[in-house]
Amino acid sequence: MVIKCLAARRRLQVAAWIFFFGLMPAGARAISSVKVAIPTAPPEREIASKKFVLQRLSLWQERLNLSHWNIRVELVRASKLEPRTLGNIHWDTDTKQATIAVLSSYDYHLPFDAMLDDMEFTVVHELVHLQLAILPRSDASRRAEEHAVNELAGALLKLARQESPCE
Ligand SMILES: [Zn+2]
Repeated sequence: MVIKCLAARRRLQVAAWIFFFGLMPAGARAISSVKVAIPTAPPEREIASKKFVLQRLSLWQERLNLSHWNIRVELVRASKLEPRTLGNIHWDTDTKQATIAVLSSYDYHLPFDAMLDDMEFTVVHELVHLQLAILPRSDASRRAEEHAVNELAGALLKLARQESPCE
């Protein structure tokens, strides 16, 4: 059974703690000489964003005990998403395969660090949907599920950042 969920959700306003060792490309602007590198060119932003999202997917997949799933993540242009959404997930509960789409950096209008926070929120949001995949779903439950998923994803990220503020 293949199910699709659209991530129509609010933005998460959190402080950014981004560590990008080894990801600073030529021409990148460093706002901290040690910890933070912000790529300035759009292609470099996209490459750094993809690496970040892949790393976050791996981390949260393990945290959410979803390691038995084969989950891909891709950055997609806004035209590939439903209007006013920042991502989505498709999954197949039989094969345990899922694909998460996250809005591409090319279509984000946030500072780099805030954009990465938002992308991480999308990843966690979609993984929480995956945890709920075994529950019955209907058009009527969809709105309530979105609310619950947003609250859970926000709480998980808040807790993680309190415990590991340098992540
Ligand atoms: Zn959602």
